[in-house]
Amino acid sequence: MLSEDDILAAVRRGLGAAGADPAAFPAHGARITRHLLVDGEIVRSVETREERTGFHPGSLDLSDRPRYDDLDGYAIPAPSDPGKPSALLLVRRGTVDPRPCDCTNGRRQCARCEGAGDVKCPTHVPCGGCEGRLCCLSCEGTGKPALKAADRPQGETGTRVDCRECGAEGAACGKCRGAGRKKCGVCRGSGTRPCPLCKRDGTIAHDYCGGTGRYVRWTEGVVERRPVVDTFKETSSLPDRAFAWTREDDGWQRVDTLDGDPDADADLDPGIAAFLKPRLGHHDGEVGRRVRVRHLSLARVTHDDHPHRVHVVIPGPVTPRVVTVRSPRRTRQLVLLALVVLVAAVAVARLVS
Ligand SMILES: [Zn+2]
Ligand SMILES: [Zn+2]
Ligand SMILES: [Zn+2]
Ligand SMILES: [Zn+2]
Ligand SMILES: [Zn+2]
Repeated sequence: MLSEDDILAAVRRGLGAAGADPAAFPAHGARITRHLLVDGEIVRSVETREERTGFHPGSLDLSDRPRYDDLDGYAIPAPSDPGKPSALLLVRRGTVDPRPCDCTNGRRQCARCEGAGDVKCPTHVPCGGCEGRLCCLSCEGTGKPALKAADRPQGETGTRVDCRECGAEGAACGKCRGAGRKKCGVCRGSGTRPCPLCKRDGTIAHDYCGGTGRYVRWTEGVVERRPVVDTFKETSSLPDRAFAWTREDDGWQRVDTLDGDPDADADLDPGIAAFLKPRLGHHDGEVGRRVRVRHLSLARVTHDDHPHRVHVVIPGPVTPRVVTVRSPRRTRQLVLLALVVLVAAVAVARLVS
């Protein structure tokens, strides 16, 4: 961390470069506050373990999967990369149970045709030419002519022909000639057609065993690890734009792969240790973590003689860098001044017009 003398010297150098008199920035009247900028992430690998029923249609070689007796007690090394999700499948010892399926060589009787291969089909279908209207004005398809023929339905324009059922002249639908129905085109009047489900086979492949006639069941242990990421970008009592004052090549200090207790890490800056400590608690199921943080301690310097300026001294790789910004009070004054000018301009514009 920079000493107060280093900080004041840096400010004076900065003012000197800008053409100001370094002596105009005496230690007396200078106020220095220090602020920590931290950004980075903590990635935890969080693990869950559960048992479920393993099932595979047909045969499956499970000999290469690790066996366990007690899933919670099964030791697995910590992840080499906590940011990478993973899933490990294990087999509980003695549970692998391959068996034949209760179907017949992977096939079951077709439920639609009950094994017959054919389904019923109507021998006749209604005539498309007269459906819903009279197929014969005289006999209505019965073959027995009525005493008085019916009138043609209103709006009918098609030609009527002689009825093949009752012989009435010009009374029947031209398509069915009075029958009112046609032979079914699918079964050609036979009354049965191939089953659409099994295509005449009478059996269908059994879904459960995938048509193989066998399956394997076992108790499966699943160990899943997924990353939980906590990213942060914080400053202690400075606005967020403080990050914009910094550069990649400033004297950021980096913390990489810190596993445990910040108190145990002697090299760690006390400020950053205090920042990290509440974030480094152990999560349920945590099996590994990676911490990547960079931090920078800024000094904010004001002087009673120059209330409008704030000097930010940023540690660099060799010498500190100084960024001079307007004080918040000065900014407010300027905004107010701009408003006054605007109001005045509007007033003048009104007078002139
Ligand atoms: Zn007829
Ligand atoms: Zn007809
Ligand atoms: Zn049919
Ligand atoms: Zn069938
Ligand atoms: Zn089966």
